[in-house]
Amino acid sequence: MPDPRSDRAMERSAPPCPICGRPGLARFKPFCSVRCADADLGQWLTGQYRVPGPQLDDERESNDAARRVDPEDGVG
Ligand SMILES: [Zn+2]
Repeated sequence: MPDPRSDRAMERSAPPCPICGRPGLARFKPFCSVRCADADLGQWLTGQYRVPGPQLDDERESNDAARRVDPEDGVG
């Protein structure tokens, strides 16, 4: 007969792993293991995570780090 308390002991205050859903470890926060942390990084590298926004037409020299705000981009 399984003891429900033993299951509780395994639970930690750490949030569940976003990759596999298992309880995360503080060491690999917020993941449960370095494997899941790598998996998350891989998703970024493979482009699975898409950031909504306008795409750049041409690649210009990224000289100006500051973003320019159009004065006409106000309320219409
Ligand atoms: Zn995991």
